[in-house]
Amino acid sequence: MDDLKKKIRDIQDFPKPGIGFKDITTLLRDASSFNRVVDIMAHRYIDQHVDIVLGIEARGFIIGSALAYKLNKGVILVRKPGKLPYKTRSVSYALEYGSDTLEIHLDAIEPGQRVLIADDVLATGGTVRAVSDLIKEMGGTVVEAAFLAELTFLNGREKLGDIPAYSLLQF
Ligand code: AMP
Repeated sequence: MDDLKKKIRDIQDFPKPGIGFKDITTLLRDASSFNRVVDIMAHRYIDQHVDIVLGIEARGFIIGSALAYKLNKGVILVRKPGKLPYKTRSVSYALEYGSDTLEIHLDAIEPGQRVLIADDVLATGGTVRAVSDLIKEMGGTVVEAAFLAELTFLNGREKLGDIPAYSLLQF
């Protein structure tokens, strides 16, 4: 895994002073790394009951849609405010840097569906906590939240509580 970790670029003081940003674009542009990451992550869910994959804007769309394709499932989107064209439900949450609101289409999840959440980085866990609340409010169940990378020193898993989480790479 160390070779994959080395493919992620650290950008200091982005987007604000004091933040060490994990830039995954350097991993994504490398065909064998991207392929390996998606294969390993998808393999974890092949024998699990997943109905649909949810990608969180924006880098979660890349991981989420690749996983959905591999698992032969559909993909749904959680987006920043004002981007989704149909009626939405929204949730606000705290970020490692600031706060934000996310939206989902009202009909994205059918009651009873088992949802796999996908995102690039688990930082403080606030985003996925909020997305998980949305999923539950809509009658869905979270199978797991899957991340390419986890910043373990931020203790995001504490905020996730009983939401199962998996990360391929830990920093
Ligand atoms: P959080 O809610 O704190 O877990 O933040 C997760 C979201 O913010 C993910 O969608 C990440 O893309 C992004 N994010 C937060 N901190 C970082 C970081 N240090 N490097 C890269 N992405 C980050």
